[in-house]
Amino acid sequence: MRLVDAHAHLEEVEELEQALRRAWEAGVKAIIAVGSDYHSSKFALELAEKPLRPKVYAALGIHPWSLNPSTLDSTMEFIRRNLGKAVAVGEVGLDYWYKETRRDREKQALQRKVFEEFLKMAESNGKPVIIHSRGAWGDSLKMAIELGVEEAVFHWFSGPQEVLENLLSHGYYVSATPAVAYSREHRKAVLSTPLSRLLLETDSPVSYGGKPSEPADILKTLEGVASVKNMSREKIAEETFENTLRFFKLPLD
Ligand SMILES: [Zn+2]
Repeated sequence: MRLVDAHAHLEEVEELEQALRRAWEAGVKAIIAVGSDYHSSKFALELAEKPLRPKVYAALGIHPWSLNPSTLDSTMEFIRRNLGKAVAVGEVGLDYWYKETRRDREKQALQRKVFEEFLKMAESNGKPVIIHSRGAWGDSLKMAIELGVEEAVFHWFSGPQEVLENLLSHGYYVSATPAVAYSREHRKAVLSTPLSRLLLETDSPVSYGGKPSEPADILKTLEGVASVKNMSREKIAEETFENTLRFFKLPLD
């Protein structure tokens, strides 16, 4: 089986070398290393230049949890300059449930301002966008549509059904995490997303069931998606692999 982990925070994965070896043994051919700030974006670019197995591709972005007004402009500029070496913009987006952001309209407005800049940057550079949309599913989608974004994946989508249907009607994708094994909302979204629009990811090193994940845990995502969709693991692996190559335009076959 051939798999791609479409979303991992490799700078936070412990003993990365061993984790990459286990991923390779699990059938992971490539990993999209997402950036959350300056350091993680830079780290993703460095990994992308190495002859690693699995092959690592960089996505560059600032996570809505990492908006630091004092470094925002310089990080944005760094990402703009280096986007040519990356396969996507991400992880970017909105999170209205994040700590005090829930009740702070100014913080929500800052998230939208930064997200808007990234969406424009992605469009003008012809890059797909990896979107975090927790608690702000409708706004995240609305902005992507209004700014004419052509390619986007809504990572770990767990939002309302009508938002999901709308994003699918715009040709966007959804990526599944190991939470598909137990999260009611995420299972529902994965069930309603056609296999042709689904990617697999781990969001490593996020903990599922109390244990930090690593890219080899893509097998748990695969298992969960196969069970939700009542299809074979082979079928899910094959189609989502093709989807990922197409979505990120990876030179891999
Ligand atoms: Zn993430």
